[in-house]
Amino acid sequence: MPTIHWFRRDLRLADNPALLAAVEQARAADDEVVPLFVVDPALWRSAGAPRLTYLARSLRALDESVGGRLVVRHGPASQVVPAVATEVGAPAVHVTAATEPYGRRRDEAVEHALDVPLVRTGSPYAVAPGRLTTQGGTPFQVFTPFRGAWLDHGWSAPARRPQRVPWADVRSDGVPDEPATDVDLPAAGERAAHARWTTYLQDELAEYADLRNRPDLDGTSRLSIPLKYGELHPRTLLADLAQAPFDVATFRSELAWREFHADVLWHHPGAAQQSLRTVVPEDSWASGDAADAAFEAWAAGRTGYPFVDAGMRQLRALGWMHNRVRMVVASFLVKDLHVRWQRGAAHFMEWLVDGDISQNQLNWQWVAGTGRDAAPYFRVFNPVTQGEKFDPDGTYVRRWVPELRDVPGRAVHQPWKLGLEAPEDYPDPIVDHGAERKVALDDFHRGRD
Ligand code: FAD
Repeated sequence: MPTIHWFRRDLRLADNPALLAAVEQARAADDEVVPLFVVDPALWRSAGAPRLTYLARSLRALDESVGGRLVVRHGPASQVVPAVATEVGAPAVHVTAATEPYGRRRDEAVEHALDVPLVRTGSPYAVAPGRLTTQGGTPFQVFTPFRGAWLDHGWSAPARRPQRVPWADVRSDGVPDEPATDVDLPAAGERAAHARWTTYLQDELAEYADLRNRPDLDGTSRLSIPLKYGELHPRTLLADLAQAPFDVATFRSELAWREFHADVLWHHPGAAQQSLRTVVPEDSWASGDAADAAFEAWAAGRTGYPFVDAGMRQLRALGWMHNRVRMVVASFLVKDLHVRWQRGAAHFMEWLVDGDISQNQLNWQWVAGTGRDAAPYFRVFNPVTQGEKFDPDGTYVRRWVPELRDVPGRAVHQPWKLGLEAPEDYPDPIVDHGAERKVALDDFHRGRD
């Protein structure tokens, strides 16, 4: 009887230990493997068009690599997976373990409904969330010691890509249509992800530490998207990094942040919605029409602060935003506009192609000062000096804010200083950063009283 490999956030054949486990079980019985993907309405409803389009393309690429045999079925996973298992008479269903709250709940429901084992092998991380603890046996609260333990623990070598897999021929509903989107998406699929990684490793990674904070220079890997869908596994990257002839510590450390956030969410599933710490009194937050107007201006990239607006427009154009700018726009929403981080995080989840509940929510909590190892609440990013420092010639702003295209050099970060020369179609700042910073700090001090 064929064994099922149920693909979720592991849309690849290489370095996929769960798939390998399914293939080995099938081979031992001289049988086939059913490559299954479930289009669960719960998942489909919660993701924005850019993510769904990318996912549909990634599924098409996966279908090609399994010889057109990908079995796509629509419906709640807790019904579909047991139904397919019964239909083909599978002895087991193999998966890469889900570690975030929704995936864990879903898998428990599937496991409960199945008559055969749900076999979890590996996770989307180099070290499974929850595996590392402090010497006292408690979860890590702080990143640096977590990273130390993570490096000490290490990870296994990449798993081999299974060859000549006998994929079963089972009815498929087909890959869903792509929703309409104007977002300019990168090529999807395992092969495109490997190509991107190989090029980046050879040509750009050596300069990562110097360039990673410069949104104008585009010096980062853009691998967050393939990592989110599991088109690449971080273990593959870490194995290649170990062979690199230059210093890779900064890049490896960013991968460690990804693992840290997943670990925090594993221990605190509620952090997907609730602040891990309360830092300001409830009445600090904007509400009603004022909050709505501020949020709308922020989301549309019309705050009058060019570095913030460039980021918000990059998000809408690419479904991706540079990390430095993510921090600045998030700080602006929470500390200048006094809008709760959850609202900004939801907007990001709608637009980001790499939108990932652990990375997104925990990074928002980091910026908002409410996370486990967060930036202190009193660190308020200054949208002008951040722009001047990390986009020194204003190239990034001019690329994304066409109204400012004719403003030369770094003057583009403060168009209100241009007087009569200021472009008419670009808004004045909707708030005064200095004044709002003071409000945020006063709120913080009230919260500590
Ligand atoms: P690179 O600089 O090339 O880094 C390499 C890899 O390291 C990334 O692909 C990513 O997997 C990891 N990484 C880098 N920075 C971080 C970080 N701060 N936290 C965790 N992992 C990191 N990342 C997501 O993958 N999904 C999200 O939904 C997400 N939301 C974010 C929201 C906010 C408010 C902020 C401040 C950051 C968010 N990040 C998120 C983290 C980070 O911005 C992106 O991972 C990064 O910009 C992706 O670009 P890159 O692949 O070129 O990164």
